[in-house]
Amino acid sequence: MPLVGGKILLKDAIKNKYAVPAFGVVNLEGAKAAILAAEELNAPIILQTTEGGINYAGHEELAAIIIACAKKAKIPVAVHLDHGRDIKYHQKSLELGYTSLMIDGSTLSFKENIEITNKVRNLIKNENITLEAEIGIIGGKEDDIEEDNDHFTKVEDAIKFIDNTNIDMLAIACGTSHGFYCKEPKINFDLIKEISSKGKVPLVLHGGTGIPLEQISKAVSAGIRKANFDSELKKAIISGILEYMDKNPEAFDLRKIFQVGINKAKEIAKEKIKAVGADNKNWLK
Ligand SMILES: [Zn+2]
Repeated sequence: MPLVGGKILLKDAIKNKYAVPAFGVVNLEGAKAAILAAEELNAPIILQTTEGGINYAGHEELAAIIIACAKKAKIPVAVHLDHGRDIKYHQKSLELGYTSLMIDGSTLSFKENIEITNKVRNLIKNENITLEAEIGIIGGKEDDIEEDNDHFTKVEDAIKFIDNTNIDMLAIACGTSHGFYCKEPKINFDLIKEISSKGKVPLVLHGGTGIPLEQISKAVSAGIRKANFDSELKKAIISGILEYMDKNPEAFDLRKIFQVGINKAKEIAKEKIKAVGADNKNWLK
């Protein structure tokens, strides 16, 4: 039963001033790692998939795995479409039981971004389902799209965008980027503060990988209410697998090999959950 709507997760995060951690998932192992971490820390979480992840695993297949994991979890879990750009993914996600969607129109013009965001809003008939949009371009490598990182969100654009759409949360470009950083990121905390105090919706931090944990916490204090983590967890799964294979080069039992990867990713996920202040925020009981 703990598959929940994005709305109720976000509501509690706003009330208690923490951010819901959202973990990018492409397979069973990633979903297990994130849920085990959340259960150990008694935290609500979001599991999310991108178009690229869906194309890799198959939408029905990936949704079946993630939603099954969410339903068995002892903590509240929302299932979210991350960086949905083509509306067919939003339609399919709703059919498959996702409880939150993101429409990423950030590479379109301001006007087109508003239009496509409103179009996706109109698809959502269930009021418990959340819609996230993005304005300003978050740099780095997201799925198969690469952006340089010099398009910070402008405060007036964010306010105007919020006023012209009926979104539940907004991703802004505030100095983070997707994937791994070459140098330490410089987050514009004042920008987060200003948009979150002037805008009427909570803000989302993308590109959480590689940001020092204390900076994540500072971003949450400034007003972030959903924080995305992706690449670091995947890397942890791989490093666990490599470590095991290094010690056991003849191994072929995938259960044992992948378990080490799951354990490694779980520890990383726990660090992130604590950094956003979501530990012990399970409101189910
Ligand atoms: Zn992102």
